[in-house]
Amino acid sequence: MAEKSERASDEEVRETAEMILDARYPIALTGAGMSVESGIPPFRGPGGLWTKYGEPPMNGFQRFMADPKKAWEERLSKRNDELFKPLTVAKPNAGHLALADLERLGVLRFMITQNIDDLHRQAGQKALAEIHGNWTLIRCLDCTTRFHGDAISLEKLPPECPRCGGLLKSDTVSFGEPIPGDVLNMCAEHSALADLVIVAGTSATVYPAAGFALEVKQRGGILIEVNLYESEITQVCDVSLRGTSADVLSRLVSAVGEIRREKLS
Ligand SMILES: [Zn+2]
Repeated sequence: MAEKSERASDEEVRETAEMILDARYPIALTGAGMSVESGIPPFRGPGGLWTKYGEPPMNGFQRFMADPKKAWEERLSKRNDELFKPLTVAKPNAGHLALADLERLGVLRFMITQNIDDLHRQAGQKALAEIHGNWTLIRCLDCTTRFHGDAISLEKLPPECPRCGGLLKSDTVSFGEPIPGDVLNMCAEHSALADLVIVAGTSATVYPAAGFALEVKQRGGILIEVNLYESEITQVCDVSLRGTSADVLSRLVSAVGEIRREKLS
């Protein structure tokens, strides 16, 4: 299956839907490919924002901690940049909506996303770990409470946590910043229960997110890849469905619904 680059056939989609329905605890791992389909440019690769503007400093978190006021001022001055603009106008695509439907059907139990764009939440996903944070949220570095951006006054910088007075930072995880423990714990807890992972729009090579998917595979679970292209993990996947997330995931979730109805009738 690794070689093919043609759009997944209806038969492959249906067989995969059967596997998902047979699983006890399916989870999903999503990445930048899903955001790209909603018009958000990727960071890496040709046409990527980092390729164009240079990578952000690898010690972004240390720089924030050294001078939080300056870091906040820099962030606010970039609000209208090419980096932020696509995030403000992006809408969930059919792939986001399909995964939210799969959760509503009671089939998908948990999702880990590497995306910071808020689109899974906007699509209605509830059991969700945003492993790199969420750009619309502000997080207290002391008590880890998250606040919606609009709920925090930015008149005085850096802003203070309304709950504990601690230092507030964008929830988006900076380079050099530890991934918040509450998020990591959720991921570990749910991936330990999982026996199937749908990997969509990511080559699953960025750790720690990739580790959660591969760990399920190592325990004998099933790995399903949904990606336009062959990726670094294609070789270890049980199924690779080629196509956009919007196309493949919506067909996959329709098939899950159909099979369920057939079984009931
Ligand atoms: Zn706090």
